[in-house]
Amino acid sequence: MKTILVERDLLGGTCLNRGCVPTKTFLEDTLTIAAIRSARFLKGEMKINFKRIMERKNMVVEGAREGIAAVLNGNGVEVLKGEGQFIGRRTVHVKTPECETQEIVGDKIVIATGSEERYEFGLKVDEQVILSTDAALSLESVPRTLAVAGAGNRGVEFASMFNHLGTQVLLIEKERRILPKEHRWVSGRYRKILLDRQVKVLARTKVVDAVASGGGVTLALESEKGREEVKVDKLILTGHRFPSYDGLNPEAEGLSVSESGIKFGPGMQTQTEGVYIVGDAAGAPYLAHKAIAQGIAAVDHMLGLNPDGRPKFIPNCVYGDPEIGSVGLTDYEAKKAGHEVRTGIFYLVGNGRAGTMGKVEGLIILVSDVGTDSVLGVHIMGPRATESISLGVMAMQHGLTLSQLQKTVLPHMTFSESFFEAALASSGEAIHMLPEIEQDESEE
Ligand SMILES: Cc1cc2nc3c(=O)[nH]c(=O)nc-3n(C[C@H](O)[C@H](O)[C@H](O)COP(=O)(O)OP(=O)(O)OC[C@H]3O[C@@H](n4cnc5c(N)ncnc54)[C@H](O)[C@@H]3O)c2cc1C
Repeated sequence: MKTILVERDLLGGTCLNRGCVPTKTFLEDTLTIAAIRSARFLKGEMKINFKRIMERKNMVVEGAREGIAAVLNGNGVEVLKGEGQFIGRRTVHVKTPECETQEIVGDKIVIATGSEERYEFGLKVDEQVILSTDAALSLESVPRTLAVAGAGNRGVEFASMFNHLGTQVLLIEKERRILPKEHRWVSGRYRKILLDRQVKVLARTKVVDAVASGGGVTLALESEKGREEVKVDKLILTGHRFPSYDGLNPEAEGLSVSESGIKFGPGMQTQTEGVYIVGDAAGAPYLAHKAIAQGIAAVDHMLGLNPDGRPKFIPNCVYGDPEIGSVGLTDYEAKKAGHEVRTGIFYLVGNGRAGTMGKVEGLIILVSDVGTDSVLGVHIMGPRATESISLGVMAMQHGLTLSQLQKTVLPHMTFSESFFEAALASSGEAIHMLPEIEQDESEE
């Protein structure tokens, strides 16, 4: 198909410029710092050149942006720089930065305008001391003290990274536990790991106000204990994301917009025939791999290839230290959905590779259905969990049964072999685990 991509800002969107790529580049450097700190065979004092970390991050981002431009160009996609706005059926009016205008009429149109972040309790970023994640990725020096409001994926990632840089971090979550969307055993263990690293964690606590003062920021916190004030150098706000159609005027295409965004049906098609919506603009989950999968589903639909190709299982990943990868249901959710549940749990203390690294706090939980033997969910915490979770996604997407997983040979010494052990643990047959291991994990 002859294809035109309209972009008003930088090629690569949030993921490449302000999300996945810069955060993971930053993360890698902080992990190196943590590894060096914990290497007892190295002597001497380590000096961190934060400016260099930021320079490398910018370089990786710029390189990736050039790569995207080359891929688009090599595949014959025309890129039009400017803001797109619907002005009628299948007609997009594009205003370029030079204020020139152009009209595009497309047989098919894909809306991929992304999402915006909103903060609760009237909190606002000033990008000086009260920061969005965008600004947190462009700091010029390492703050001495930092509060992170919101302990979801991004909050935990930023808390991990700055903790490794030597910042005193306070992580605040209004729900009863950090990482509230993850398995309760995973989030419970994660909290302990952060506390061991001297990260202060406050759950059931709301940041209700933040005021810049004396070069730092004073937060008002509200919890069951009452109200208290805390002063830190910087505050990072991680809010909730919502679909964004800023400047797009979707109503001119006959599309109605609700709080959860523009509705879509099979193949990501909206209520207007030939108009599709993908990625963050299509609502939660706000993840790049979901955006890619929806993009493919939309194009398949346009070509009549796979009329109802909506992605089935979308993994969630937390790229902190340690990592978390999860897909599907927790045992609690599965029971609520009416399944007779079997839970296999394997602790990384029994994994050889984790032992060699001295990173044994993790675990893997495999939830399956007793009747059908099918896998309902996988939850992994530990080194490279965001890689190992791919095994769980494959198993679920292609309907592998627990018995099939138990007969699969996975390489030794890897973290992934814990996946096999968790499958064995589901029927009490894990090899590198004591049969009667005490489960001290809390209930929901
Ligand atoms: C700090 C952070 C870390 C993240 N890390 C990860 C991660 O590790 N893994 C992961 O899977 N996801 C991650 N995400 C989420 C990921 O970035 C998004 O899910 C992904 O970028 C969504 O892609 P998209 O194409 O739907 O939207 P976007 O990437 O936001 O792209 C939308 C684009 O549309 C343009 N646009 C909007 N309106 C118009 C208009 N009217 N005309 C022309 N152009 C317009 C915008 O300029 C933008 O470039 C992260 C997000 C953040 C903020």
